[in-house]
Amino acid sequence: MFETERHVMVARQIEGRGVKTPRVLEAMRRVPRHEFVEKSSWDDVYEDHPMGIGLGQTISQPYIVALMTEALDPQPGQRVLEIGTGSGYQTAVLAELYDEVYSIERHGALSEQAGLILKRLGYDQVHLRVGDGTKGWPEAAPFDAIIVTAGGPKMPAPLMNQLNVDHGRLLAPIGMVHPDSSAKKDEDVGQELVLMHRTPEGIKRHSYGDVRFVPLIGEHAW
Ligand code: SAM
Repeated sequence: MFETERHVMVARQIEGRGVKTPRVLEAMRRVPRHEFVEKSSWDDVYEDHPMGIGLGQTISQPYIVALMTEALDPQPGQRVLEIGTGSGYQTAVLAELYDEVYSIERHGALSEQAGLILKRLGYDQVHLRVGDGTKGWPEAAPFDAIIVTAGGPKMPAPLMNQLNVDHGRLLAPIGMVHPDSSAKKDEDVGQELVLMHRTPEGIKRHSYGDVRFVPLIGEHAW
């Protein structure tokens, strides 16, 4: 269902904007995005924008999901940690590309709903947890990649420490809006998408430009 829509989405919104990795493009063609939203939203679920999923949270824009997945450089045999399960859509894209996917969500209701959908779709290598993802998942560390899908003021230190020392990648939207500013705690503010890449020569930082995510709320965030 919606296969044609997914092919058009990938061609126009994703390849058309420069995402090139064949495995990532194939994952974006395979994952049924409509399964992660209410039926009443199916009319425009393959359009070029994020959508509400309840509790003030969003399923990310398809292009941003693809861009972030490509930035992680997923390789066979690797393990990934996601902070912000949300609808579970990005989780499913990661599950197409990683051997093990760990994902943490602070809202129990979202995690439960995402878990049901992921299970129904057969993503058996996904492990979900409810809690503050800024503390990471120490028992399952180290991870080859960590992706944060909400915007915080800085890279959460525990996540840096749970990254594989050999080419681990941590990707997060970082916004410098201070909590004491006029922006409220739960307000949607813009960020820079930042990749920290551990290499034998040290940590390399790369920016993927401006993005807009809901806030990362937790001990090592807002
Ligand atoms: N990747 C998701 C998708 O495709 O549906 C979109 C995630 S949404 C933009 C960000 C999610 O991060 C929200 O569901 C929010 O509740 C969650 N979140 C915010 N702070 C968090 C934290 N400290 N730990 C875990 N989840 C958090």
